[in-house]
Amino acid sequence: MKKALVLGAGGFIGNHLVNRLKKDGYWVRGVDLKYPEYQEKSNADEFVQGDLKDVSLVSRVFVAPNQLTPNILGFDEIYQLAADMGGAGYIFTGDNDANVMHNSAMINLNVAEAAVKFKAGRVFYSSSACMYPEHNQLDPNNPNCEESSAYPANPDSEYGWEKLFSERLYFAYNRNYNLNVRVARFHNIFGPLGTWDGGREKAPAAMCRKAAELTDGDELEVWGDGLQTRSFLYIDDCVEAVIRFTRQDDFIGPVNIGSAEMVSINDLAQLALDAAGKSNKIKNLAGKDFVDKYGFKCPEGVRGRNSDNRLYREKMNWEPTQPLKDGVASTFKWINSQVNI
Ligand code: NAD
Repeated sequence: MKKALVLGAGGFIGNHLVNRLKKDGYWVRGVDLKYPEYQEKSNADEFVQGDLKDVSLVSRVFVAPNQLTPNILGFDEIYQLAADMGGAGYIFTGDNDANVMHNSAMINLNVAEAAVKFKAGRVFYSSSACMYPEHNQLDPNNPNCEESSAYPANPDSEYGWEKLFSERLYFAYNRNYNLNVRVARFHNIFGPLGTWDGGREKAPAAMCRKAAELTDGDELEVWGDGLQTRSFLYIDDCVEAVIRFTRQDDFIGPVNIGSAEMVSINDLAQLALDAAGKSNKIKNLAGKDFVDKYGFKCPEGVRGRNSDNRLYREKMNWEPTQPLKDGVASTFKWINSQVNI
């Protein structure tokens, strides 16, 4: 039986990945600071609640069952998704920069070292589109997120800089220690069982929550002018893309995992309203009005971002296809059930 270790298994994508690995017949150990928030319990065979910044915990969890010495083969697949992250309100305000960089870098330093020491079969690392240079994402209609455009580097957040550092870390371990790595850059993953309130939620979940909570006459508030563009990948497509990439042997990345269906944030808000069957208006809040209401500058991020899927398609002969409209409808249904519990 194959064994997988999922780091960040209590998080949104990690939890979905555990569910998929169990369906594939794997023995799975999950590790996280917390249990999955919206599923009664993790489907992992073993769930270790602990801090991956702690090197001794990392050493313990990397030893696969029945393998008491570090010199025999460890897990077949390791998925490193643990990171100190959140939505725009957490990453782009600047208030959490030191923690974001320190915590995530510590995790990745520990994981790369342990993966070599305990002879991991292969290690998937989830980087982010936030590592792309800001200067290539100023035009909302024509952003450039081709993998090769990463350098000269100029991410617009410290979160993006840490991702870039850790990508390089895993590739260095690949060159120097033959660590069998796969590095992918996620572009806005969303779907049911994801954080939908509390400040760490992403745009699709925030729009669905707002649409669910609206009553007649209310306006759906969108941060910024709403003309900034993004693409959003539904969770099932994300998990499929991760698995396909991790299990092939010819290409280690970096590669984008995202949707190429680019929309404005106002378009996304409209899809959430459509899913809710509501005809309320959208209100864009920016500039001084935003500062007056929230006490900090509107965290809009880059003006345009879209997943360039050409490389993934070329290497994997596949790409995500779920239309955004369908993903928003499923996500709205789940968030609506949470809001109205
Ligand atoms: P998430 O926040 O739901 O999951 C991350 C998990 O890591 C959390 O459950 C958290 O508790 C855990 N974690 C954080 N610090 C830890 C520590 N010290 N020890 C143990 N566990 C710790 O995020 P997600 O959306 O599931 O994202 C997974 C990965 O994908 C992250 O690395 C993220 O940066 C990356 N990513 C996600 C997106 C997206 O749109 N969701 C986009 C780009 C990149």
